[in-house]
Amino acid sequence: MQKIIDFIQYTFNTKEFIPLHEPRFLGNEKKYLNECIDSTFVSSVGKYVDTFESEFAKFVGSKYAIATVNGTAALHIALLLANVTKEDEVITQPLTFIATCNAISYCGAEPVFIDVDLDTMGMSPESLKNFLEEHCELKDNRCINKTTQKVIKACVPMHTFGHACRISEIQEICEQWFINLVEDSAESLGSYYKGQHTGTFGKLGAFSFNGNKIITSGGGGVIVTDDEVLAKRAKHLTTTAKIPHPFEYVHDEIGYNYRMPNLNAALLVAQLEQLEKFLESKKKLASIYAEFFSSKNSIKFISEPVDSSSNYWLQAVMMSTKEERDSFLEFTNNNSVMTRPIWKLMNELQMFQSCQTDGLKNAKFLEERIVNIPSSVRI
Ligand SMILES: *Cc1c(COP(=O)(O)O)cnc(C)c1O
Repeated sequence: MQKIIDFIQYTFNTKEFIPLHEPRFLGNEKKYLNECIDSTFVSSVGKYVDTFESEFAKFVGSKYAIATVNGTAALHIALLLANVTKEDEVITQPLTFIATCNAISYCGAEPVFIDVDLDTMGMSPESLKNFLEEHCELKDNRCINKTTQKVIKACVPMHTFGHACRISEIQEICEQWFINLVEDSAESLGSYYKGQHTGTFGKLGAFSFNGNKIITSGGGGVIVTDDEVLAKRAKHLTTTAKIPHPFEYVHDEIGYNYRMPNLNAALLVAQLEQLEKFLESKKKLASIYAEFFSSKNSIKFISEPVDSSSNYWLQAVMMSTKEERDSFLEFTNNNSVMTRPIWKLMNELQMFQSCQTDGLKNAKFLEERIVNIPSSVRI
């Protein structure tokens, strides 16, 4: 195992502590932030939010992009716009960051957990189809869960660590069952499925720009959609549902203060300019890791699945057993190389223990074996 430490230190060219993922500010960040401060437009109004929204929409190939205060808020609003309300159910995967399930809960809905594919670590279209056929029926163009009699309103797959799940197949199944598809693309900026950018397959997609993501605004998120009505509603709901007026405060529904401040957008515009460079660096790092781990029998590097062009946001390896995983985590973290296990399954957390699942065989297998290794863009 010392060889792995040596290799990672050599790859990152340091003997100091190596974090899992740290941001890089190598472009116009300070320039734009200074401009922003000098202009005094640091908060809810300013040109950087507009610039970011149009540049981002262009990059992913969606018609509209609406910046938000963080990725969780983007998911929350996307789910509300997918008509998710109290007493509904939303299908998602158990292997995800807590934000996916929190956003579902904010709508008053309950998650239903469907298994993932072993190669993508994202929702399995096979498992989704099997679950729907076995447990659900269509009534008046609504998908009814026969076990609970509740409506399954939406489906939220997630592109784990930037590897695209089989999103076209999932999209097709959702269409057949009248389920709104909302993509949690928080981790997959720069990732494509069969040439199309992740987050643009569903009715709505959500991205995150938290400090640990591939580009960051300190904290931030964005909703993407091709639907003009939904885009306008998203902007309205995230900006306190205020009716535009030069001086009066009139609000026509209960809205949210979920807008992204101009200061954060200034940072983000500079980050977006460097995305291609970051992607190149991450793909290069993936090939370096892939080659190194190809000679190890007990550790398998996770490469992009077929049909996915991955951003390799967080690099991952699979250990052969839970015991080996635990000793790997112990050894690396004790030797200044930060590594982390994949998330605990959502259905095992106290809040979601009573939620319906389909068995989750693959998710359980991966949960015990997947470890993230240092993934920062190398300077
Ligand atoms: C980062 C992330 C989010 C959103 O996180 P925020 O910190 O609220 O921006 C949502 N889902 C997943 C899977 C994530 O990794």
